[in-house]
Amino acid sequence: MITRKLWLYGILVGVVALSGCDKSVSEKDKKENPDMTMKKESFGQTPEGEEVSIFTLVNTNGIKARIIDYGATLVSLEVPDRDGKLADIVLGFDSPDGYTGKDCPYFGATIGRYANRIARGKFTLDEVDYKLAVNNGENHLHGGVKGFDKVMWKGRQLQTDEAVDLEFTYISKDGEEGYPGNLSCTVIYSLTNNNELKINYKAQTDKPTVVNLTNHSYFNLAGAGNGDILGHELTINADRFTPVDKGLIPTGELRSVENSPMDFRKPMTIDSRIDQVPGGYDHNYVLNTSGDTTVLAARASEPTSGRVIEVYTTEPGVQLYSGNFLDGSITGKSGKVYKKHYGFCLETQHFPDSPNKPNFPSVVLRPGETYTTITIYKFW
Ligand code: BGC
Repeated sequence: MITRKLWLYGILVGVVALSGCDKSVSEKDKKENPDMTMKKESFGQTPEGEEVSIFTLVNTNGIKARIIDYGATLVSLEVPDRDGKLADIVLGFDSPDGYTGKDCPYFGATIGRYANRIARGKFTLDEVDYKLAVNNGENHLHGGVKGFDKVMWKGRQLQTDEAVDLEFTYISKDGEEGYPGNLSCTVIYSLTNNNELKINYKAQTDKPTVVNLTNHSYFNLAGAGNGDILGHELTINADRFTPVDKGLIPTGELRSVENSPMDFRKPMTIDSRIDQVPGGYDHNYVLNTSGDTTVLAARASEPTSGRVIEVYTTEPGVQLYSGNFLDGSITGKSGKVYKKHYGFCLETQHFPDSPNKPNFPSVVLRPGETYTTITIYKFW
C-alpha cells in the first residue's frame, strides 16, 4: 500500500515537474497564433520619406519576431517564460526615427561591412592601402558613418515547410565607407517551430575586400526595459579572449580566461565580477570550436522568468557587450527608458581589427568566393 502511494506520488511529482518545465506558449496565446505565419505592414517612413516595412514572423508555438527592412533590423522578439507568458526580449523602438537617428546604438541591426572595430580605419590588402570612415574616436566601428544598419534592404518573404523565412538583400557599392568592391549581401531570418531564430548571411564581391557581418540585438530575458541584465546567468564556450587597448582595439594576444573575470566557462551571473572589468564587458571571446560547423557559443538564463537563450554560430568569435554605454538617455518601445546594463549583446563575429592582425582568422573575401555564416538564437 505504501509502495503504491509512493508510486502515485512519484507520478504526480513527475507530471507537476514536467508541466513546470513546459515553456510552450499558453493556450490563450496559441489560439491567437494557430499557425506559422508572416505578414508585411508599414512601419512608417524615414526622415527622407522612404517607406519602411515591418515583417512579422510567428511560429506554431506563438514566438513572434518583427523585423524591418531598414538596417534588416530585429525590432521585437516575443518569447514565452516558464508559464508560457510572452514578453518582448530585445531593446528597440516603436517607429523608424529611433533607428534612423545617429544616437541609435545599433539596436537589433545587421552590422556590416565590418562588424566591430578596425584600428584607425585603415588596412592594407594585396599591397593596396584602404582608408575607411572613422566614427569611433580614431577608429572605424560597425561599418562606419553609414553602415549596413543605416541603409534600406530589400525584403522578400520565403515560405518553407519547416520555417518562415525572410530574405533581405543589399548591394554595398565599391568605395562605400571606403571599402573596396561591390558587395552583394543576403541576410535570411528564419523562425522555426523548434523555437529558433536563425540568421543566415551570404556575400559575394567583385574585388578583394573584407567582410564581417553580425546582428546587434540587445537582449533582456526579463523583458526589454524591465530592469538591468546583471542577474542573468551566462556561459560562454571560450577558453580565450582577445585583450584590448584603451580604444578597444585587440592587442593581438589570445589570452586565457583562467582565473579572471572573463571566465564564463561555468555559468556565472553577469554582475558576479563585472566591477573587476573597467567599463564593463565589451570583449571578443575566441570560441572553443570554430570552422564551418555550428557550435554553441553562449547560453544565458534569467531566473525570475525562466527564459533561456542559446547562441549557436559558425563564427570563430563572440563579442560580449554588457550595455555599458546605455545611460538612460534613450526611450525605447512602449516609453521604456533604457539605462546602463539594460541589455546585453552576444555578437557572433570574426575578431575585431582582423584586417590588421595576420594571426587572426582571415576576413578577406575574393571574387568567386561566397561568404557564408550562420547564427542561431534558440529559446528554451
Ligand atoms: C561595441 C561597443 C559599442 C556598442 C554599441 C558593441 O558592439 O563593442 O563598444 O559601444 O557596440 O555601439
